[in-house]
Amino acid sequence: MFKKVLIANRGEIALRILRACKELGIGTVAVHSTADETAMHVRLADESVCIGPPASSESYLNIHQIVAACEITGADAIHPGYGFLSENAKFAEILEAHGITFIGPSSAHIRTMGDKIEAKITAKRLGIPVVPGSEGAVNTPQEAKDIADDVGYPVIIKAASGGGGRGMKVANSADEIGAALNSARKEAGAAFGDDVVYIEKYLANPRHIEVQVMGDGVSRGVHLGERDCSLQRRHQKVFEEANSPALNEEQRNRIGEICATAIGDMGYSGAGTIEFLYENDEFYFIEMNTRLQVEHPVTEMITRIDLVNEQLHVASGNGLSFSQDEVSFMGHAIECRINAENPRTFVPSPGTISYYHPPGGLGVRVDSGVYQGYKIPPYYDSLIGKLIVHGRTRPECLMRLRRALDEFVVGGIDTTLPLFQDLVTNDDVIAGDYNIHWLEKYLAAKE
Ligand code: ADP
Repeated sequence: MFKKVLIANRGEIALRILRACKELGIGTVAVHSTADETAMHVRLADESVCIGPPASSESYLNIHQIVAACEITGADAIHPGYGFLSENAKFAEILEAHGITFIGPSSAHIRTMGDKIEAKITAKRLGIPVVPGSEGAVNTPQEAKDIADDVGYPVIIKAASGGGGRGMKVANSADEIGAALNSARKEAGAAFGDDVVYIEKYLANPRHIEVQVMGDGVSRGVHLGERDCSLQRRHQKVFEEANSPALNEEQRNRIGEICATAIGDMGYSGAGTIEFLYENDEFYFIEMNTRLQVEHPVTEMITRIDLVNEQLHVASGNGLSFSQDEVSFMGHAIECRINAENPRTFVPSPGTISYYHPPGGLGVRVDSGVYQGYKIPPYYDSLIGKLIVHGRTRPECLMRLRRALDEFVVGGIDTTLPLFQDLVTNDDVIAGDYNIHWLEKYLAAKE
């Protein structure tokens, strides 16, 4: 096992990783920008290194500074968390060259899955169902029209280097193809410096269902069930649950086994998530995230497996500590992403937390790096914490979530807590009857 791990991240996820390291007796190094000197992950780490000014590009994304911090402190591995450098193949490669372990998959796997066209081709080859569409890049309107005629309208044109829901355009008929192709290209070029696009069938009302996988880096893969992340705003997840209210055990095992086999065949190392759209009983691969996800705790709650502990286990060369037979699902878990934002306009609300009282009790988990008196800096993502609740059944989980939300008090700033208090009393949410458009429609109707 590692002696010392450097955590190249901030906020709740830095703390989450730190906790797993502490339990294993691994030394921890926090890195931070000048804006994060008082952050909880810095206070709780064994050592900390300031790596630059507030702007992420000069601190949390500054590879040179992070590698230097690793060398100064003698850390033997880096955990990248999510976001920042977690899916940067070049970063993983630089660490490989420096003899520092990157806690994640190989740079080759990050690179393949980071290119959506490559990822889709790879997924298809591994037996994962994909959205019907072009085999690769699409260059001319005629090519796009030919494919659209084949798969049927509407179609969606997507950026090969896409992320965060950008560079995507829907075309409802042949007349709209030319304009959609042009604007998707332009947006992709501006956002990602790469205007390569591809085309696929646009699914009207799917759910977003993703499968958590882990690989031993040689030939064995396991799955830890799915998460339903259909409640989204601007393609960003807001509320996640495991298991999905839409799947039964047979469907769960079927898609899980396909993913586990694929991960084993790839020789994938560590944690990953295979994301699908799900409609009319069919799964359609959209992308793979080669890292730990924000919503990983709901999986931990129902499997009782610590995913970060397992990442450390695999990355240190010890393989997977459990087999598929040892994975079982118990009860139901829901996560609410608490953002420092106005709950109606979603305008960020940085500032000082004047009062902080997180909920507690049976089945309640709060992953957060904030505390009373903490000043939220304005430079980063507005996620300030995650409330994760577990129950033996989905109704029990929802009941407990309502109680926990009522207990949760954050003073001095706006948060999205009131949004969740509304959602957990909504009939569709209670019934688990929603798709990826549900939340946007709900919010629009409230305006
Ligand atoms: P990104 O990496 O930018 O998040 P994804 O491919 O993961 O892009 O897609 C993000 C979201 O866009 C999906 O969760 C879904 O809401 C929508 N989307 C993407 N592809 C399709 C499709 N073929 N049909 C319908 N919606 C889609």
